[in-house]
Amino acid sequence: MKTLKGTTAASGIVRGVVCIYDNKVKDTVPHYNIEPNQVEREIERLKEVFEHAKTEMRDMIEKAKSQSDKNAQEIFGIHLMMLGDKGLFDKITDLIRTRNINAEHAVSDVFEIYIDKYSKAEGHFKELVHDLVDTRERVLMSFNMETGHFRCSVGEQKPVIVAANLLTPSMVLNIPREHVLAFVSREGGITSHATILARSYGVPIVFGIDVEKELDCGTNAIVDGSIGKVIISPDEKTESYYDKKIENIKKKKFVCDTVDKKVHARTKEGKNITLKLNVSIPDELNLIAGLPHDGIGLLRTEFLFIKKDEAPSEEEQYQVYRKILDEVKGPVTARILDLSNDKLPSYLESSVDSRNDLGFRGAMAVDMFRDIYVAQFKALLRANENGNLRLLYPMVADVNDINTYRSALNEAKKILKKENVKFYNKDIQEGVMVETPAAVIMADELLKNADFINVGSNDLLQYTLAASRGNALAEKRYHILHPALVRLLELVVKEGKKAKKEICLCGEAASFEEFYPLFLKIGLKSFSVSVSKFSDIKCELLHVKELKDREMLDSFYKIKSKEEAEKYFAKFV
Ligand code: PEP
Ligand code: MG
Repeated sequence: MKTLKGTTAASGIVRGVVCIYDNKVKDTVPHYNIEPNQVEREIERLKEVFEHAKTEMRDMIEKAKSQSDKNAQEIFGIHLMMLGDKGLFDKITDLIRTRNINAEHAVSDVFEIYIDKYSKAEGHFKELVHDLVDTRERVLMSFNMETGHFRCSVGEQKPVIVAANLLTPSMVLNIPREHVLAFVSREGGITSHATILARSYGVPIVFGIDVEKELDCGTNAIVDGSIGKVIISPDEKTESYYDKKIENIKKKKFVCDTVDKKVHARTKEGKNITLKLNVSIPDELNLIAGLPHDGIGLLRTEFLFIKKDEAPSEEEQYQVYRKILDEVKGPVTARILDLSNDKLPSYLESSVDSRNDLGFRGAMAVDMFRDIYVAQFKALLRANENGNLRLLYPMVADVNDINTYRSALNEAKKILKKENVKFYNKDIQEGVMVETPAAVIMADELLKNADFINVGSNDLLQYTLAASRGNALAEKRYHILHPALVRLLELVVKEGKKAKKEICLCGEAASFEEFYPLFLKIGLKSFSVSVSKFSDIKCELLHVKELKDREMLDSFYKIKSKEEAEKYFAKFV
């Protein structure tokens, strides 16, 4: 058994057989030279092929229209546009002329240049890579070349977990819906066109999995789209855990489908629960319209800072924050840049010891890179015209840390005033991430100085157990809801009650349905979960019952091993 962690693009859980889908067209492209007197004939051949591909595309659009599939119409419209792009066509003919090469070779080389260029771009342009690959393959296929296919015949015979290096729109549509249990790929994007189409199949989608290296045709696997996991060759215990989970999800979904989709989260007994969203990349924002959420509980602003050559400017940040604050209904909790060695921008690497992030986490980073933090505060203050911004300070250990963030905030205000730039700071709530044991112990003091607490269970667990998050050995040894973590949570909730302030759980622990009887028992009433997990948790809340008595909670606190914890939660699955 091996567990692979990827990124989820659609939730749901399935168990089945893996079948790899090959998009091998490119590897079989013939390369040969032509005589100068054959150039015009080769260009004629190229024209015919483009016309053929365009006709196919138009047919696909018509088919999508007849099925009222707006997404597919739009996507294939883009492909048709690419095929009609004169610049692209001219580049290919130029290559045939100047290098005396066959048309397939020229098509492949020119598309490669575009694909390479777009791969290095950000956001939407990057996601067009899949469309370029798809269009290239359509053109090459029109030369009567091999088309994509399942590597093993099982894919033609029964529904399978379709694995591929890259999902492309045509590939998705070429595989009949009834043959697909889930999609797993190495490359993908939450809002890539292929993903949009695949999502309409209503199956789990996980990308970021090294398909060629990790998966084999015919292997048994479980795809847990709710947490982006692919478990290969699961053992019996894991299989039966997931079988039960799948069965229960089916039953619960049946009930939840009958409930008004606009109703906000509440429990079976009618107790209101605050259910918010964690947003880690801007693309996720495209998925939240229509979800009855209570705002963004955790906006991980790091996406603006990493994978760049230099820190984003105040203006660049302002544009992004402005768009989010304008579009999202409800409060937006923006976490101030949370530096750690797994999300360290390259331009800061030389200034820190990247092997040990305990020297620059949290407020320490504010002292080290004050300009960056002041610019972020300025951008946020300017963007808050709607007044729905909340500020969240990461990795706080004590009140002194809050004051460090606050001094950068005040400096930002001072500069904006001096610059005569409009900003909006009225009634901005300030909260802290509780992710260190120190912060738990100091929760009463922190709450005197902050408006709310977000508990980051991912980091709180690692700093409590001295066991790195995501480390295979640590995960094998400790349960994600370790009794020590729950004891700490209970302490924080108690302080929240006393201070009458919100305690929101926003780490991964909140994504597990089976933990909710316990969460409700210790008094948690606010959660923030990933976009892909939102509907599952909302549905779970409608079914869940809080632990009956204190004894059941105490028996959890006495648990001595991960196995015992698994057994304890199995009854709530
Ligand atoms: C956490 O630590 O639980 C958390 C929510 O923050 P992040 O996962 O971004 O470190
Ligand atoms: Mg954290």
